[in-house]
Amino acid sequence: MRRVSIFGATGSIGVNTADLIAKAGGADAFDVVALSGGRNVALLADQARRLKAEIAVTAFDDCLEPLRAALAGSGVAAAAGSAALLEAAARPADWVMSAIVGAAGLAPGMRALAHGGTLALANKESMVCAGPLMRAEAARHGATILPVDSEHSAIFQALTGERRADAERVILTASGGPFRDWPAERLARATVAEAMAHPNWRMGQRISIDSASLFNKAMEVIEARELFDFSPGQIEVLIHPQSIVHALVGFADGGLMAHLGPPDMRHAIGYALNWPDRAALPVARLDLAEIARLDFHAPDEARFPALRLARGVMQAGGLAGAAFNAAKESALDAFLAGQIGFADMAPLVEVTLDKLMAQGDLTGATFTLDSVLATDHLARRTTQEAASRLNQS
Ligand code: NAD
Ligand code: MG
Repeated sequence: MRRVSIFGATGSIGVNTADLIAKAGGADAFDVVALSGGRNVALLADQARRLKAEIAVTAFDDCLEPLRAALAGSGVAAAAGSAALLEAAARPADWVMSAIVGAAGLAPGMRALAHGGTLALANKESMVCAGPLMRAEAARHGATILPVDSEHSAIFQALTGERRADAERVILTASGGPFRDWPAERLARATVAEAMAHPNWRMGQRISIDSASLFNKAMEVIEARELFDFSPGQIEVLIHPQSIVHALVGFADGGLMAHLGPPDMRHAIGYALNWPDRAALPVARLDLAEIARLDFHAPDEARFPALRLARGVMQAGGLAGAAFNAAKESALDAFLAGQIGFADMAPLVEVTLDKLMAQGDLTGATFTLDSVLATDHLARRTTQEAASRLNQS
């Protein structure tokens, strides 16, 4: 039986993954190795019992006792903390879902590549912070990284059966988020609840707000570069409010292969779970006559500067991706805490990148997991300092 683990099992992607595994036979069809979560120990314990996991790990030490209590008599081991997370990732598995949110997902995902199996990668932060390390680790162990981000799953599917060298560009679509048509003055006063109200997708809090600021799409541009080795000039973004076409690949002969589907992550998760086969999935079938029209237009980089920042990051290379992600996460923390406004996030990220770039912190250093994590800390500190200055002024 296939041995599978889910990191970030209690999140939006993780719950859908656990459900698909349960529907595909659960403990009768898979050996479920490790499940991880955060503070939602009741859900984690429930999932672990249902799937008969070997071990359940909470990221937080103070959640260990409640997790132990919830698992009492189940035969599922309980553990807590980042070292336990890495130990769980070191348990051999053929298929691992990387669905922790943020840079915290990097080390467990990287560890899981050492099994030489499949890493289903929802955690785009891993590729943005440390794409070259992830790719080298996968190559060293003969592991396969399968993208779970819907756009990247779409690109992967459009490239399947083609020669990579024949692809000349990719187009990622973006819904444009809830603020697509908002004027700049209104954006400045946008609240967390308004930013969370994504028109098409139901997702975790952080990625929903990143979608509203287009930081999510900026991350995805970098992710596409790292996963498929397109140059920055070959990666385009189109606003597509219906979220039906997830991405397109353009070939040397002018043809475009598009991937269409309902905005439901269970498609991309299920594709990665069943690859290279396809299995029936519980997603709605598109009625194109009812949808009737698909709109596309260019993104407005004046109101949404994140895409411009992503191009600078790709140009700089090296540790700029790690700094970009950390600054973005830290700016989002400041927005969630009510410390800064929605429209302050992008300038804050830019100030941080400029400062670290000018100090020579992002280029030239050796690119290792340690230097990535050190850059992450430095960028967070720098962003927090800039946020407090902004708050005082
Ligand atoms: P979420 O917030 O719903 O869930 C995050 C999971 O990570 C939870 O299990 C949580 O307990 C765990 N977690 C949180 N902080 C942690 C920490 N410090 N250490 C260890 N575990 C921690 O997030 P999500 O929306 O499911 O997104 C997960 C990942 O998938 C993100 O990288 C996101 O960008 C990516 N992704 C999500 C979607 C989506 O539709 N939700 C789509 C594409 C990509
Ligand atoms: Mg996406």
